[in-house]
Amino acid sequence: MNLLELHMEQAQSFLQKYYGYPDFREGQRKIVESVLSGSDTLGIMPTGGGKSVCYQIPALILPGLTLVVSPLISLMKDQVDALTTMGVPAAYINSTLSGKEVNDRIRAAKRGEIKLLYVAPERLELDWFREEMSSLEISCVAVDEAHCVSQWGHDFRTSYLAVSPFVNSLPERPIIAAFTATATPEVMDDMIRLLRLEDPALFMTGLGRDNLSMSVLRGENKRDFVLNYAETHAHQPGIVYAATRKEVDDLYERLRQSGIPAGRYHAGLPDREREESQEAFLYDDIRVMVATNAFGMGIDKSNVRYVIHYNMPKNMEAYVQEAGRAGRDGEPSDCILLFSPQDIMTQKFLIEQNPQDGDRKRNEYRKLQQMIEYCYSTSCLKWGMLDYFGEAHDRKPCGICSSCRDERELVDMTVDAQIIFSCIHRMRERFGVSLVASVLKGSQNKKVLQYGFETLPTYGMMRRRTEKEISELINLLIAEGYLALSEGQYPIVRLLPLSVDVLKGQHQVMMRAPEPILSKTASSSSN
Ligand code: ADP
Ligand code: ZN
Repeated sequence: MNLLELHMEQAQSFLQKYYGYPDFREGQRKIVESVLSGSDTLGIMPTGGGKSVCYQIPALILPGLTLVVSPLISLMKDQVDALTTMGVPAAYINSTLSGKEVNDRIRAAKRGEIKLLYVAPERLELDWFREEMSSLEISCVAVDEAHCVSQWGHDFRTSYLAVSPFVNSLPERPIIAAFTATATPEVMDDMIRLLRLEDPALFMTGLGRDNLSMSVLRGENKRDFVLNYAETHAHQPGIVYAATRKEVDDLYERLRQSGIPAGRYHAGLPDREREESQEAFLYDDIRVMVATNAFGMGIDKSNVRYVIHYNMPKNMEAYVQEAGRAGRDGEPSDCILLFSPQDIMTQKFLIEQNPQDGDRKRNEYRKLQQMIEYCYSTSCLKWGMLDYFGEAHDRKPCGICSSCRDERELVDMTVDAQIIFSCIHRMRERFGVSLVASVLKGSQNKKVLQYGFETLPTYGMMRRRTEKEISELINLLIAEGYLALSEGQYPIVRLLPLSVDVLKGQHQVMMRAPEPILSKTASSSSN
């Protein structure tokens, strides 16, 4: 038996001994093996996938100390408490400790009494800390929430940039193991580059957890939906994410009025109230938590049966992270996104509000666009998600998402599509969805007249529909890959080779669409 095999056996027995788990999950085993073999490792796992054991188990086996870089002080204490209870020698150092406590812990580490030491990234910037660490044997630096190192991610944290210089300052280079729940290719590149991972082994697992049923619902009365859903699932814990504090407060009041045991959580509430409702949620004293995205990081509640998004989040990373808080115990759970076109305006407004350079802004718009496409997609949502994150899959429809469960028949929308494409073509592919819709509607609006679009042959060709329906139809065509949308605040719709095929009559457009859109197809309205 070679050393690695021996270590893996040890890993397995520690997993049982300390954690009481009979076995590793598939992804965990590979990651543990990679770290134990001495390789830099990047593990991308969904929230609840079980990242912690991926570095905690190797820490018990590798010589010396594993330093865990963790972003949240509150999280650190919980994790360390849990480890100590299990008998794993762990400690944390952060700003809540006195100077003496810090010294005691560093001394304990020097004596080899600590295998896992948790610190916030800011600490790595302190010279004295670096010096103290240089005299220790550090085998591994585990970076939790590693996407925080990237400006392309959704939680950029400058101090994560200190990880690499810190590692360089150590007399011997440790193994670096980085973990995150979500990563697009850019973020992945950044993690590798900015954390200076050397030839890292990359593991991406289980984004498409089979127990999660993903749904996107468009055109619902959102408030009624939430009240109704919470009422019919009154005995099950769930989270409702809303975009603003005001919406959180409003939903919370409504739920309470309906007699549903709800709690709320947002940054505008006093610390005490937030802590209390978090506790109440963890201990099932309340069922529904209505919250902004301030809630959830580091919440370990495995039996959340549903996560409802009252608004579309800004991007897929944020969505997957938040929705992934459902069903961590593997039991069937619902992730429901209530989409309305207003959400797009809100997100654009937020991007514009945030002062940042052009590249970054363009990137945010691009991600927003991909989020919108997900919301309009009529093909399997799980595919959409896995494709976005570049995870390989077998292209079998999941069977449980709102697209897969959609029993509406596919309808031939070729004629409508041709009208739309031809209008875009005649408008020289220089305008956005709403102006194209105005022209097809035959609107007299100022911009239409200013460009003389009332003279186009396609002007008013869809006057039986509302402009909203026409926009919706164009968005569907974008989501289905028939049209392209440029990046930026005012994206322009363009034709693609596929749309040209449709115009030439070489390709049929079959779609599932909401009722009002199908009921007025050009062909049916003419007979
Ligand atoms: P993450 O940090 O990826 O969100 P955690 O490490 O907190 O996930 O683990 C998520 C949940 O999965 C925890 O409740 C944990 O107890 C459980 N878990 C992790 N690994 C295993 C395993 N091998 N077998 C059974 N349960 C596990
Ligand atoms: Zn599906």
